[in-house]
Amino acid sequence: MTHVFNFSAGPAVLPKEVLQQAASEMLDWHGSGMSVMEMSHRGPEFISIYKQAEADLRELLAVPANYKILFMQGGGLGQNAVIPLNLLGRVAQPGTIDFVHTGSWSGKSIKEAARYAQVNVAASSQAEGFTRVPDPATWKLTDGAAYLHVCTNETIDGVEYNFVPQPLDGVPLVADMSSHILSRVIDVSKYGVIFAGAQKNIGPAGLTLVIVREDLLEYALPACPSAFHWKNVAEHESMFNTPPTYAIYIAGLVFAHLKRQGGVAAMEARNIEKARLLYEALDRDDFYSNRVEESCRSRMNIPFYLRDESLNDQFLAGAKARGLLQLKGHKSVGGMRASIYNAMPIEGVQALVDYLNEFAGR
Ligand code: PMP
Repeated sequence: MTHVFNFSAGPAVLPKEVLQQAASEMLDWHGSGMSVMEMSHRGPEFISIYKQAEADLRELLAVPANYKILFMQGGGLGQNAVIPLNLLGRVAQPGTIDFVHTGSWSGKSIKEAARYAQVNVAASSQAEGFTRVPDPATWKLTDGAAYLHVCTNETIDGVEYNFVPQPLDGVPLVADMSSHILSRVIDVSKYGVIFAGAQKNIGPAGLTLVIVREDLLEYALPACPSAFHWKNVAEHESMFNTPPTYAIYIAGLVFAHLKRQGGVAAMEARNIEKARLLYEALDRDDFYSNRVEESCRSRMNIPFYLRDESLNDQFLAGAKARGLLQLKGHKSVGGMRASIYNAMPIEGVQALVDYLNEFAGR
């Protein structure tokens, strides 16, 4: 088999051990004679897979007992629409939602929410090209906002929060953690809602994770679709309709794998080291550049530019020849991007660093 390192932003690299286990169980899960894909979501086999996945995730993130974990569909962008539909009932209509605009993904959330409510952009780093998280002292938050929405890791812009945002009293904090969930220790109790598409640090595309504080299940608008109504989904233990069973199974294997690796704190220590290695190579001279302010640089998604952009194609071709794949930056920002999620081994980062040095003629 060709050996490659896959730096895709998502769907992204998964742990080899997980893929090997899934392969070995593909045709016959634990002597059931069935593939997980063929199982009823209401049968005892799948229920056991689901319960274990839920319990392991709860343990990994130390999710408090008064929070529900929902396994949903529709992706991060689906949640952009259903978060307003689930929370706007907290306030008189149309209600105001506060946002901090730190890049492409919070931008998409703002645009979608504007279809349902008044949107207040409490702070934005757009004028500086999304190179930092605006200083929280400057945020213009709304008294009585339905909630404050942030994207704690901007996958395209490579900007990550290094602090927990502080909403005004009584206002729930909603965080899009799609591209860094499980990569660092978080205090779930500081958040009202955490959501994440699975296809980066969790498992295959098709599964969307929502972690929601129980008291926030009471505020859905009447128009909220039943399959996306958090309280309804919670009451049915994510089985109001057919959940993405195979994706939940793979996510469960990833959770078990993370536990064997020492849990989220151990992953965080490795992620700090991986990011340090890569930024150090990018910063060595001006052959490459990453434009994000140092304190806000993402540990997961590292965009960079070649000083001489006419070399971009040559850089990518050389990378590909060495098995370093998917390094092309997002089309909206150009340049390059290396996504180094939990499942990217340090050897992959080292191979990229060696190539960066070689290409720069160091
Ligand atoms: N939020 C973030 C931070 C993302 O990185 C992405 C996808 N790259 C999304 C939302 C959108 O997710 P989906 O494509 O699953 O709707």
